[in-house]
Amino acid sequence: MIEVENLTKTYGDRVAVGGISFTVKTGEAIGFLGPNGAGKSTTLRMLTGYLTPTQGTIRVGGIDAVKDPIGVRRLIGYMPESVPLYGELRVDEYLRYRARLKGVPRARVSARVDSSLQLANVTDVRHRLIGQLSKGYRSRVGLADALVADPPLLVLDEPTAGLDPNQIRQVRDLIRGMAGHKTVLLSTHILPEVESTCGRVLIIHRGQLVGEGEPGTLRGAQDGGQVLVIESRGPSEQLVAALQSTKGVRRVLETQDVAAPGQPVAVRVRLDVESPAVAEAVFAAVAAAGLSLRELRREQTSLEDVFASLTTADAAAGEHNAASTPGSEASSTHTGVGP
Ligand code: ADP
Ligand code: MG
Repeated sequence: MIEVENLTKTYGDRVAVGGISFTVKTGEAIGFLGPNGAGKSTTLRMLTGYLTPTQGTIRVGGIDAVKDPIGVRRLIGYMPESVPLYGELRVDEYLRYRARLKGVPRARVSARVDSSLQLANVTDVRHRLIGQLSKGYRSRVGLADALVADPPLLVLDEPTAGLDPNQIRQVRDLIRGMAGHKTVLLSTHILPEVESTCGRVLIIHRGQLVGEGEPGTLRGAQDGGQVLVIESRGPSEQLVAALQSTKGVRRVLETQDVAAPGQPVAVRVRLDVESPAVAEAVFAAVAAAGLSLRELRREQTSLEDVFASLTTADAAAGEHNAASTPGSEASSTHTGVGP
């Protein structure tokens, strides 16, 4: 359904999207996951024919998005990040207008409007002026707009941004419910979003794809990846050094001081290890270093861990990508992640 090759967008010397390639099969629900400024919206705007790439090719349903953006838009229900709605129109007037604009035959407009109102759960405000709606409703009118012409491909840019938890659940259910009937490509900076809705995830960071897989695979469920949590009293440098040289330890994910009243400060370390069996070697290594072990337990790898690991590895590999403003983008990696 979608074939993207070497897709690139630069603004001056700023690389917003730095040569990404991927394919999406018909019927697939795919998540585009990355922190703010990663290049998600830029990619989706190029895919939907609203922005011309600096370089690269896009084919959607066999149509070249650069040569025939109008043709491509006919296949896509696109919900942009900030939905450009007409505040002075009533919801159903707006959707009728959009349906006609998208080529829905006159005789089918009413049925399509009703169905999209229902799917996006905005039937109760159908006679209200768009300008008077709350952010959550307005965003779901944007979703109804994406659905109104019943397109085979939905491209949703942060579809749950600005919604309350109830509305988020409804939109996620809706997306899940379309699995199989429609091809869905959605972007998000929220990890649980892709876990609950997408069969496959592409992780984008500073305009580059840094990871790809099923949410379950990314968690390390299939390569046996595990997280061990160790708590110990004693100098954290010494503990970390001992752990890092232990066989089967892939990397230190996190180090944190733990204060307990009336006790010396302990340190808690989270480790990415090859298998649960590494716990034994870790136990031995801590003992050999003359440190006391307060706690040793297993934890399932979270998508957060995977994401942090992929994006920090990328940052450590060098600041060669002009997409980053020193400091600002790097810090959004962490602040941008989380519900
Ligand atoms: P995301 O949707 O992942 O948050 P965007 O695609 O909006 O990221 O932005 C990617 C990068 O490109 C950011 O660094 C952003 O500042 C930059 N960018 C986006 N649009 C423009 C523009 N019109 N002019 C200059 N830079 C832009
Ligand atoms: Mg965006």
